[in-house]
Amino acid sequence: MYNIILFGPPGSGKGTQAGLLVDKHNFLHISTGDMFREELSRNTPLGKEARSYMDAGHLVPDEVTIAMLRKRVDQHPDVPGIIFDGFPRTDPQAAELNDLMRERDSQINALILLDVEVDTIVTRILGRGATSGRADDLKEDVIRTRYENFVNYTSPVYDFYDELGLAHRVDGSLTPEEVSREIDAIIGRESKDSL
Ligand code: ADP
Repeated sequence: MYNIILFGPPGSGKGTQAGLLVDKHNFLHISTGDMFREELSRNTPLGKEARSYMDAGHLVPDEVTIAMLRKRVDQHPDVPGIIFDGFPRTDPQAAELNDLMRERDSQINALILLDVEVDTIVTRILGRGATSGRADDLKEDVIRTRYENFVNYTSPVYDFYDELGLAHRVDGSLTPEEVSREIDAIIGRESKDSL
C-alpha cells in the first residue's frame, strides 16, 4: 500500500489534489471534513455533535474524529493506497494513525504540505463560500480561527513526519496543475522505494 497525507491549512487545495490523485491511482480518498459534512446532512448524532465545532471553526474532539476515521479505514482492507485529507490534525491523531497503519502491516509513505499564506486562504475560502454551501466558509473571523487552529494544533504534525524523513513541502499558491506535477514528482520518487 502507498499511503499519503495531504496536509495544509484550510483552503490550501487538499481536496482538489486528492481528487486528481484518485483519478490517477485509484487510491481511497478519506476526507474527515467530508465525512463530518455527510453526517451533518443526514442529521445523525455524530453530525449534530460535530456541527457546533465546525461552524465555529474549531476542531472536533479527537476521540470522535479518531473513531470515525478508524471505522472508515477498517471498511476498506484491500485498497492500493489511502489519501488522508484533513487527518491527522493533532498529535494524538497522528499517533493513532501510526498505530492503525502498523496494525495493517502498512505505513505512511509521504506527508505533503500544501503551503499557502493566510491572506490567500481567506480570499480563496470567501470565494468558495459563495457556492460551497458551507457555513464555515462565509465569515472571515471563522476562516481566521480555522487557520489559527491549523498553526497551533496541526502544524506540529509536520515535524513528526519530518523527523521520519517523510515530509515534503509544495508551494500551494501555484495553479492546481502545477501543484499536481510537484506531487507526482514526490510520489514518483517515493514510490520507487516502497511499492
Ligand atoms: P478545511 O480544510 O477547508 O478546513 P475540512 O473539510 O478538512 O476543511 O474540515 C472542516 C471542519 O471539519 C474543520 O474545521 C473541523 O471542524 C472538522 N474536522 C475535519 N477534520 C478534522 C480532524 N481531523 N480533526 C478535528 N476536526 C476535524
